[in-house]
Amino acid sequence: MHTERIELPAPAPGHTRALTVHTLGSGPRKAYLQAALHADEWPGLLVLQHVLERLIKLEQAGKLLQRIVIVPYANPVGMNQRLFGYVPGRFDAVTGQNFNRGMSVDPDAVLEKVREQLGSDAEHNDRVMRETLHQMALDNRGDYEIQALHSALLSQSLDANIMLDLHCDDEALPHVFYGDHQRETGKSLGDCLGFPVRLEEDVRGVVAFDGTHTQPWVKVAEATGAPFAEPCFAATLELRGSTAVSDELARRDAEGILAFLEQQGYLSDSGASPQPQAHDTVAVNVDQVKVIKAADNGLITYRKDMGERVEKGEHIGDIVLLDRDTPERVPVTAPATGFLFTRTVDYLVYPGSTLGMIASDERQIEPGQQLSF
Ligand SMILES: [Zn+2]
Repeated sequence: MHTERIELPAPAPGHTRALTVHTLGSGPRKAYLQAALHADEWPGLLVLQHVLERLIKLEQAGKLLQRIVIVPYANPVGMNQRLFGYVPGRFDAVTGQNFNRGMSVDPDAVLEKVREQLGSDAEHNDRVMRETLHQMALDNRGDYEIQALHSALLSQSLDANIMLDLHCDDEALPHVFYGDHQRETGKSLGDCLGFPVRLEEDVRGVVAFDGTHTQPWVKVAEATGAPFAEPCFAATLELRGSTAVSDELARRDAEGILAFLEQQGYLSDSGASPQPQAHDTVAVNVDQVKVIKAADNGLITYRKDMGERVEKGEHIGDIVLLDRDTPERVPVTAPATGFLFTRTVDYLVYPGSTLGMIASDERQIEPGQQLSF
């Protein structure tokens, strides 16, 4: 293993920030893993420590077959947001930008750079794409610290063959997002992890960090018809809720990740196996996710657990109103039929706030529009 530190521009006199990048193994293919791009989401930080421990031993035993790059904390900028005892961590304090949005490379600019170089040789086309994307990541440093952070991360990840971005929700069943053009690999990943919910998205629209890695391949292939051998597979892993930080869960998730990497040819004889499923599995397109919104302010209490199927109109919880003369509640009904898989833990809710999410049976939003939270 070798470890590199990438310095970010100092945000103020006397401050230095850096990313730590571990590289293990060698080979033409690269898997890249990072955690806590949303700096308030910590389960993945522990998972990657478990992954790292295992990979170091596998490397010593000569069992790594390709390169694996680990960025153990993806957002030192957000991690330093300590506000009266909390780490907000989700949005950049200077620009207001969500740390997991707005870093995609312009597909038209990629197309312009690669069009003349692509031919009928898929391996050659892959090399052209990876070199171009890597250079564009380095060039897009921008003016703001968040842009320098994105550039530094993408300079390590954008030419990868596999990219796994570790996040978590408020309180959720573990789930995974990936492009709907890579259903087969996404299913393998979900099966290895033992995650019950798989969300498939059209990456041609608004994308997060994961889709930033797959969108250029999809758009360039569509525009040119050129063949590619192994476009990047990228996924976001939502590791349950923000308080689900435990060695037991982290060990389990690390096993699932290693099983997937072994299945994809990155290592051998890891001893890792696909994790068991605790629930029925559900795979839906992201545009079938129905967000449950609060209509009043007050305290939310739930009548339904995550993993339960709910019917449209069913009474799933109550908002306890606090500003009435006598105790009063407003029922919350399911806005769609499907599988309840997330709930908020910000129990003091307000009109418009998100109460939870249902993997529903029908389309809820326009395809290609990334969920906005
Ligand atoms: Zn996140």
